[in-house]
Amino acid sequence: MAEGLNTLGVAHRFIREQVRPGAFCIDATAGNGHDTALLCELCGPSGRVLAFDIQESAVQATKRRLAGCGFQNRAEVILDSHSNMDRYAEKESVDCIVFNFGYLPGGDHRVFTTAATSIPAIEKGLALLKPRGVMSLCIYYGGDSGYEEKEALLTYLKTVDPRQYTVLLHQFYNRPNDPPIPVFLYKEC
Ligand code: SAM
Repeated sequence: MAEGLNTLGVAHRFIREQVRPGAFCIDATAGNGHDTALLCELCGPSGRVLAFDIQESAVQATKRRLAGCGFQNRAEVILDSHSNMDRYAEKESVDCIVFNFGYLPGGDHRVFTTAATSIPAIEKGLALLKPRGVMSLCIYYGGDSGYEEKEALLTYLKTVDPRQYTVLLHQFYNRPNDPPIPVFLYKEC
């Protein structure tokens, strides 16, 4: 059976549609750097990317991936929590912010994103977005990281002001075993 589209594929399709050369982007969960590298590719030499992770190993893995792609000059990889992203970017200056929740594949499964920092980070990220800016969230849950963050994120996302933002939630409706949830947010004004 063909595997079909996965969550990352859905998110990357969205990001490719949105990010243009010269864009300023944030990868809030750098991990192994796949999303950071995609953002660097799309924003081009005139664009800029900030990438955050709380694990030194993820920062190093992301730097290695960027160097391998020749993108090391387009991104700053920062060892800090995404909940501090407002210390590194001005309000309404960012075109696209990407979150990929859960733990680092191939890394320490005891380190994963939690609602205590994810929700403040999304809130800060929304304030950093330019009008017409976008945010992509991939919500992984179940397994080692449990269901708590997913429930808290979905509860929070319902409260996001509909006059300012559109929140679109996607569901892999016919897949078993906790399929991840892609969510896209659009800043309207
Ligand atoms: N986007 C990554 C990639 O392309 O490989 C995968 C990200 S992985 C699913 C989640 C990452 O979030 C882990 O590397 C983890 O260390 C990181 N993380 C957990 N809490 C964080 C926080 N508060 N701030 C920034 N990163 C965090």
